[in-house]
Amino acid sequence: MSERTSVQTGIVRGMEILRLSPSRINDFLNCPQLYKYRAIDLLPEPPSLEAERGKLIHSVLEDLFELPAADRNLQSATEILPKSWQRALHENQELQSLVTDEKEWLDRAHALLTNYFSIEKPQTFESTYREIHLERDLTDQIYLHGYVDRIDIAPTGEVRIVDYKTGKSPKAGYEEKALFQLRVYALLYWKNHGVLPTLLQLLYLGDSQVIKSGISEIQLEATDRKLRNIGDEILSAISEEFFPPKKSKLCDWCYFKSICPAHNR
Ligand code: SF4
Repeated sequence: MSERTSVQTGIVRGMEILRLSPSRINDFLNCPQLYKYRAIDLLPEPPSLEAERGKLIHSVLEDLFELPAADRNLQSATEILPKSWQRALHENQELQSLVTDEKEWLDRAHALLTNYFSIEKPQTFESTYREIHLERDLTDQIYLHGYVDRIDIAPTGEVRIVDYKTGKSPKAGYEEKALFQLRVYALLYWKNHGVLPTLLQLLYLGDSQVIKSGISEIQLEATDRKLRNIGDEILSAISEEFFPPKKSKLCDWCYFKSICPAHNR
């Protein structure tokens, strides 16, 4: 790990470098106080069922694409699932107490995998990259990075960026917000490889829905400007030590609610 990538925010060779990712950007936009707890104070959070379910499904799908195309079917995914689960348990002992009903847990994971095969046919194409890390310095002070679930490059050169979601698709009108994460990845890919991705694709396994979007240079330039603006806002918040809590429905799921000033006055 490089010196730069080893810090969240901090002083590196006399220069403050801000580490930005789609998740941390979301945190800051949803609630600056939440961003501070996670990115500045680095407070630990217990694993959540939702996050662990997402990791398990991602790991099964990653392994699935290692198989020959003809073998990428529900039966193979069903066989991979318990192996991935055992590996996760071995790597994280806390999962044992988090998952109280293992059968129900695996049944739910299996249902999500079944949904996956209803919206994509992995036997019909080759995936080029899985769980790939993209990174780049956006400015002297802002480092941008993210892990992309899948990038598929067609024999004809078109690039598709794919992200799996284990939840349900957003309500009508909220698709743009969901696509922002993929635009960030598309920007990184474009800047690093000089190739404009053709298609962004969000696969929602919770309700078997797909959100697809094309992408243009104009949109990516707008994403670039937006990221720089958000980065500058965060840098100002850091220098002024001003991270106001923003109450919303998210508070009910926020692990830090018990220490948050917005709920403890
Ligand atoms: S409880 Fe709500 S306001 Fe407080 S940090 Fe969490 S999301 Fe922000």
